[in-house]
Amino acid sequence: MQIGKKSFCVIGNPVSHSLSPIMHTAAIKKYDLNAEYNFYELPSNLTQDRLRSWAVENHVTGFNVTYPFKSIAALACDELSEDSKTISAVNTIVIEHEELIGATTDGQGFLLSLGEYKLPADVAVLGAGGAASSIILALSKLDTVNEISVYVRNLVKAKEALQSLSKKIQIKEISEYVDQKLIINATPLGMGNNLDQSPIKTTQYSEAFIYDTIYHPHKTRLLLEAEAKGCRTQNGLGMLAGQAVEAFKLFFPDVISQDIGQKECYDLMLSTAEKKLRE
Ligand code: NAP
Repeated sequence: MQIGKKSFCVIGNPVSHSLSPIMHTAAIKKYDLNAEYNFYELPSNLTQDRLRSWAVENHVTGFNVTYPFKSIAALACDELSEDSKTISAVNTIVIEHEELIGATTDGQGFLLSLGEYKLPADVAVLGAGGAASSIILALSKLDTVNEISVYVRNLVKAKEALQSLSKKIQIKEISEYVDQKLIINATPLGMGNNLDQSPIKTTQYSEAFIYDTIYHPHKTRLLLEAEAKGCRTQNGLGMLAGQAVEAFKLFFPDVISQDIGQKECYDLMLSTAEKKLRE
């Protein structure tokens, strides 16, 4: 590696499919930065100590964290952002003087992906896992959002996981009628082994904005059924690009800000990811 060149990466297992390297590399090139961004597949039995020593020994400047290391990475950090402390997970770590400083950018990335959309006062989130927690935390901090209904299959587990996040949360059975104007799917129903499944029945919505955090497939069964009913829809690729932009801001604090260059960087990362998925 060149002297002075900063080294970034994403860690996960599996990780070779990750779109983070191409999104960050596109931004590194655009802003002409002396840096590189790679991916590393680390063993799935990774411990916090091994993660720390891996990062320091490899002279990594900063890295993103994806499945299944978001929780162990939080434990490995010397410092955590308030949001990371709340959800006990990180997806972005910056290393300063061998100290690991962790943050989570998924929630802000989700908000960024909404663009100019005016959020309703009542929002529905389907699922109560990692992605849901990040989204719920980000939504709960907005004054305009009064109530977040979280629809789950296991009420007890969800209460335990979410009770400390916000007083705005109402936990409900996923089989209940979901009638909010914004419905966000943060379950894996619609992808992988659950490709043909949808978390809610088509009859449960009509004019809502249906946001699916899944982006592969491009349109889940939920989105296709919602579109057929005339609903506005969006997949999770924008959230992925949004979290990458928020991570990029932590990696390169002086390059872009919320006011300067953020939208441009988001559009670049999103179009880069879209192009890759079309290949
Ligand atoms: P996770 O932590 O495992 O959480 C999954 C949630 O879905 C849990 O609450 C789980 O409930 C629920 N669930 C699973 N199967 C269900 C079913 N059959 N019926 C009802 N609920 C069910 O996973 P995650 O990391 O949050 O990921 C969730 C989704 O978000 C995935 O589709 C992932 O692709 C997506 N995601 C997208 C982005 C992005 O940037 N676009 C980022 C992260 C995640 P139990 O607790 O009862 O199992």
